[in-house]
Amino acid sequence: MTSWPLHPDSVAVHAGREDLADLGVHAPPIDLSTTNPLPGIEAGGLSYEAMAGGGTPVPEGGAVYARLWNPTVARFESALAGMEHAEAAVAFSSGMAAMTAAVLATLKESGRRHVLAVRPLYGGTDHLLASGLLGAEVTYCSASRVAASVRPDTAMIVLETPANPTLDMVDIRAVVEAARGVPVLVDNTFATPVLQNPLDLGAAMVLHSATKYLGGHGDVIAGVIACGHQEAAALRRVRAVTGGLLHPLAAYLLHRGLATLPVRVRAQQANARRIVAWLTTHPGVARVHYPGLDGDPLGLLGRQMSGTGAMISMDLRGGYEQAERVTSATRLFTHAVSLGGVDSLIQHPAALTHRPVPPDARPAASLVRLSIGLEDADDLIADLDRALAATSPLDQRLPARPADAPAGAAS
Ligand SMILES: *Cc1c(COP(=O)(O)O)cnc(C)c1O
Repeated sequence: MTSWPLHPDSVAVHAGREDLADLGVHAPPIDLSTTNPLPGIEAGGLSYEAMAGGGTPVPEGGAVYARLWNPTVARFESALAGMEHAEAAVAFSSGMAAMTAAVLATLKESGRRHVLAVRPLYGGTDHLLASGLLGAEVTYCSASRVAASVRPDTAMIVLETPANPTLDMVDIRAVVEAARGVPVLVDNTFATPVLQNPLDLGAAMVLHSATKYLGGHGDVIAGVIACGHQEAAALRRVRAVTGGLLHPLAAYLLHRGLATLPVRVRAQQANARRIVAWLTTHPGVARVHYPGLDGDPLGLLGRQMSGTGAMISMDLRGGYEQAERVTSATRLFTHAVSLGGVDSLIQHPAALTHRPVPPDARPAASLVRLSIGLEDADDLIADLDRALAATSPLDQRLPARPADAPAGAAS
């Protein structure tokens, strides 16, 4: 898939569908078989051995059992690999199952135990790494401390950019250089393959919580890792024994969702930009976190990330109490965790997604995170305006905002 000759939007629509014409169908079939008839004991046994060893393609003896391989899942994997410029991809039952497999596979293959984690990370990832469950020794550092923190026994480096929830950006190429050959895993959930392709910048593995933008409709939990053939085989071996599989119905929905991913991301991003421009002028908002708003000191926009995305965080002047009021006052924005869907969401990271993170690394209590959807930007701005204006104690001390100003006028 590395030499796919099409532009990214065409890959999104056509990848993973190469076998459909031969099958005589236009939409990918859903194969729900948990087991496969065996042609003979010996051929079945050899197949089992090859598949459990992480091999592809499916040998003559068939796929044997769905914990080893499923064609509907494989089509989604092939499509995502194409979008991430990867040789292969391996799908899992959730983003956390994918992260678990990535760490287990890398520790096993390298014979090393140390994992270097660049904060901030998604709370679940931070917690998983700190938990000790994976047998890794984990140290945390900032992106600028990677070179000083890599050890001879470091198996991998884990980073996220833009990071959840502060939208901090990390220079992937600089971390890869500082890593001196240690494989770097990039969580690309926020950027999506539409805006950023970490493998092109030297990362060894790209992880997505496919639950978010890839699925895009809030109805699938899934994870996927795009990487080289060697890493993919190691991941499949871990998946085969630990069983963190993606169900074929979920894979079908994800594959369907990929076709519209570029269009959705660009439209959601256009909405986000309008909302950011409006929020930065709002007296109840102390600071807006969004790629590029800080002047892009590392020069990553354009070089690493082709757009600014559709996730926004904001520090409210009224702190935690105002966050409590705003999150319960919005009507179009649903107060809920998760992100990346066609509908807008609002949530408080310190209390929810990042609750398991130690207090010194936890997001500020004044921080609220917005995932911008496909609604009309004017309606989203009006919703935020109402929620912020109606509830901010500060606003009561400021001159009244003109009540009849058209929503979005400030942008
Ligand atoms: C949600 C999320 C995850 C975890 O994925 P699940 O599908 O919820 O298991 C990992 N990384 C990031 C950046 C996320 O937002």
